[in-house]
Amino acid sequence: MKPIRYTIVPKQPAAHLFEVSVTVAAPHPDGQRFMLPVWIPGSYMVREFERNIVTLRAFNDAGRKVRIDKTDKHTWQAAPVKGALTLRYEVYAWDMSVRAAHLDDTIGFFNGTSVFLAALGHEAAQCVVDIRKPDGSAYRDWRVATALPEARGTKRYGFGEYQAQNYDELVDHPVTLGEFELATFKAHGVPHDIVIAGRVIGLDMPRLAADLKRICEAQIALFEPRSKKAPVDRYVFMTQAVSDGYGGLEHRASTALICNRTDLPVTGREEMTDGYRTYLGLCSHEYFHTWNVKRIKPAAFAPYDLTRENYTTLLWLFEGFTSYYDDLILVRSGVIGEDDYLTMVGKTIGSVLRGSGRLKQSVAESSYDTWVKYYRQDENASNAIVSYYTKGSLVALAFDLTIRAQTGHRRSLDDVMRLLWQRYGRDFYRGKPVGIEEGDVEALFAEATGADLADIFANGVHGTRDLPLAELLAPAGIELVPDAGKNGKPSLGARMRGGAECALAAVFDGGAAQKAGLSAGDVLVALDGLRVTGANLDALLGRYVPGAKVEVHAFRRDELRVAQLKLDEPEVLRYKLTVQGGEAQDGKSAGKPGKAGKADKSVKSAAKSAGKSAGKSGGKSGGKSGGKSAGGRGESAAARGWRGRWLGN
Ligand SMILES: [Zn+2]
Repeated sequence: MKPIRYTIVPKQPAAHLFEVSVTVAAPHPDGQRFMLPVWIPGSYMVREFERNIVTLRAFNDAGRKVRIDKTDKHTWQAAPVKGALTLRYEVYAWDMSVRAAHLDDTIGFFNGTSVFLAALGHEAAQCVVDIRKPDGSAYRDWRVATALPEARGTKRYGFGEYQAQNYDELVDHPVTLGEFELATFKAHGVPHDIVIAGRVIGLDMPRLAADLKRICEAQIALFEPRSKKAPVDRYVFMTQAVSDGYGGLEHRASTALICNRTDLPVTGREEMTDGYRTYLGLCSHEYFHTWNVKRIKPAAFAPYDLTRENYTTLLWLFEGFTSYYDDLILVRSGVIGEDDYLTMVGKTIGSVLRGSGRLKQSVAESSYDTWVKYYRQDENASNAIVSYYTKGSLVALAFDLTIRAQTGHRRSLDDVMRLLWQRYGRDFYRGKPVGIEEGDVEALFAEATGADLADIFANGVHGTRDLPLAELLAPAGIELVPDAGKNGKPSLGARMRGGAECALAAVFDGGAAQKAGLSAGDVLVALDGLRVTGANLDALLGRYVPGAKVEVHAFRRDELRVAQLKLDEPEVLRYKLTVQGGEAQDGKSAGKPGKAGKADKSVKSAAKSAGKSAGKSGGKSGGKSGGKSAGGRGESAAARGWRGRWLGN
């Protein structure tokens, strides 16, 4: 089969137009059909990329026009031709995210799913794409960053021809065009590029490279402890640094990331800021996907159907477990300390327990319905759905702690990941593209660990009962303490939109605002006759105690209403994971547990009972002590050792 040839030209950066062509040497004799994907793998929402195709024409190899018709929103059919058929089309690219395509005179970025039409029936053919430089001296220093392999004659980072084995590979290598900062490091012998586009003052690339190397090597060693063989020959982290943005998308040998430029490390400043830790967590997350979802896949993604939703109940395993390991790898590789790690887990627990949607939707259901629910959240989301990312990461935590407790650390969740890798992932792009069936997951966990995990599958994965995390953390000497924050104020039972107006963004099930008849979108104007704004709401609420009654004036649309509202208990925003018998993880001793909301009862009572038994339980001691300062005075060696084996490397 002759290769399918593409060209892509950043033709009019000011108009945000890529000019693309595709040539099929031997089109279908009855007329060649073409398709543009309606979604991009990794981001589970139908986005209708075809809406950005502005003009499209077809030509035969003599350069004469060939009739071409649309047969549905994302499919075209050309009239039969003798010889080669070429389509030329323009793609409007003005989406500064990692999911689509963007072009202006500062940067070009595209995913193949946004710009390359598939020639139907030729998806298995080799693809060659000629990436051209925009005209003009302003673009003299532009380069190309991509994990797409260069064709012969093209220099690394140069414009010219690149190639892919098939269409699936072609659209799995995003491309950045422009001026960018570049650094390369090796992780277990494999070159990894860091590409940062966008202006960043004082960028500390050596530090970034050193930290990413530790993260990547820890992940490679997790999956291939003996051979330390990376799953790729080359990997590219490409980042667009912007004023305000956050996100990443995984690919088989690269990731496209977007972050705040202020999150990136500054030369001469050694501190680990929240922003930098978040950025490293994002890199770690997307890199983990190189194994978990880009090679180990649900059967529903092997292969992807790019024309419609691909349903799987397993995103808790592919996104949730990846969310568990992204931060865990940071602490295991020593990039962050144990205290920081436990703080992050406490935040995740808080964010999951805050939403009553967790009591109505399981993470398996959330996975299946992500196309219309998780990815299309509205004001009712926290009352109706659960995140398979955050809850999924807690499911992973519960599995890991349970396996460790039952096997005395001889087995862990790492063994599950390794068996998944050996059975499904390692050879996925070597002629064995098989994904895991949903019904085979539980048996595989049992095979990998020998542990009894039926409860977590029944209640944590397929059910909506809260996970017994307090009990599971006890052997590690960790107590879960609800924390309403320093100035816990009585709560309206709502999330505010933020900004100058005091508008409700979401109203929680059974909360004070809902009981008072208030709705998302309502704008509060007065509490007990005093004007309330976004700026003074907290100060006003600070004058009341939980249970106090407040007269609220609010606008719904343009109609004023008056409501009597009885204030709720302070909202539990996060949990503190405190190391028992020692110092609290934030360096202070843990205060009295605040009063938890209704939703958090199970954790609170579980924390109490766990506290009683913690002294007795615990795995074998003798493991390495984890992080820097969490091991407090007076703590049992067993608990410290337990934590070390979980969080150490
Ligand atoms: Zn992910």
